[in-house]
Amino acid sequence: MTEPLIELRDVSRRYDDGPPALNDVSLTVGAGEAVVILGPSGSGKSTLLNLIAGLDRPDAGTVTVDGVRVDGLGEAAAARYRRAKVGMVFQFFHLLDDMTVADNVALPAQLAGMARGAAHRRAAELLETLGIDRHARAHPGRLSGGERQRVAVARALMNRPPLILADEPTGALDTAAGDDVGRLLRELNAEGQTLVMVTHDLALARSCTRRTVRIVDGRIAEDAGVQGIGMDGTGVADTGVEVAP
Ligand code: ADP
Repeated sequence: MTEPLIELRDVSRRYDDGPPALNDVSLTVGAGEAVVILGPSGSGKSTLLNLIAGLDRPDAGTVTVDGVRVDGLGEAAAARYRRAKVGMVFQFFHLLDDMTVADNVALPAQLAGMARGAAHRRAAELLETLGIDRHARAHPGRLSGGERQRVAVARALMNRPPLILADEPTGALDTAAGDDVGRLLRELNAEGQTLVMVTHDLALARSCTRRTVRIVDGRIAEDAGVQGIGMDGTGVADTGVEVAP
C-alpha cells in the first residue's frame, strides 16, 4: 500500500442507548486508493463517513486523515479541515438555493481565501467538465435531481481535495447521469485523489474500485478485492481477504 491517507484505530461510536453504530473498527486507506463501503442499511456506513469527515466524533479510538487527528477537532477546526482536505458528495448535503449554481460551486474556494474571479473561473471549468455549464446562473432549486447532484460534485471538487467521500453518489440519478458521475469519480481517482464511497450500486462499485470493505453490525466483516462481487453483493471473499482484528 502507498502512504496511508486515512487511519482509523479501534474506533467505536454509539448513539444514545442503541447498539454501537461502529464497534472497534480499524481501517487504513492508502493515498490514491479507491474503496467502496458495502453493507446492509443501518450497519454503520454513514457513521464511518461522518467520522472521517469530522462531522461526528467517535466515543473511542482515533481517526487520522493526511496527518490530521480528526477525532479531536472542535467545530471550527473541523470545518477548516474539511475545506482543506475533503470533498463531500453526500446526497443530503444541501446546495444553497438563494445563490446561483456558479456561486455555490465557487463558495468553498472563496471561503478558503481564493479571489472571487479566480474561484468563478475554476467553477466555470468544473461546470463545463460536468456538462452543466448552461445552468451556471440558475438557482439549484430549478434543476433536476441529476443536475443538482452534478453541482454538488463540482462543489466538492472545487478545492482539489486529496480525499473524496461519497455517500450513494448515484442514488438520486437516472442511469445516464449516474454513469457521468461514476466516470468523473474514476477519472479523479486515476489522477490521484483518494476515494471512499458508500454505494449499493454494484456496477458503480465494480467500475470504480478493486477494494471493497463490508460492514455488518458496526464491524468490518470483510475487506477484499472486488472481483467476486455478485450482482446481489454476495460472494466477495475470493481474493485478498483481510478481516480486521
Ligand atoms: P448505514 O449508513 O449503514 O445505513 P448508519 O451509520 O446511518 O448506517 O447507522 C448505524 C446505526 O446508528 C443505526 O442503528 C442508526 O439507527 C444509528 N444512528 C445513526 N445516526 C444516528 C443518530 N444521529 N442518532 C441516533 N442513532 C443514529
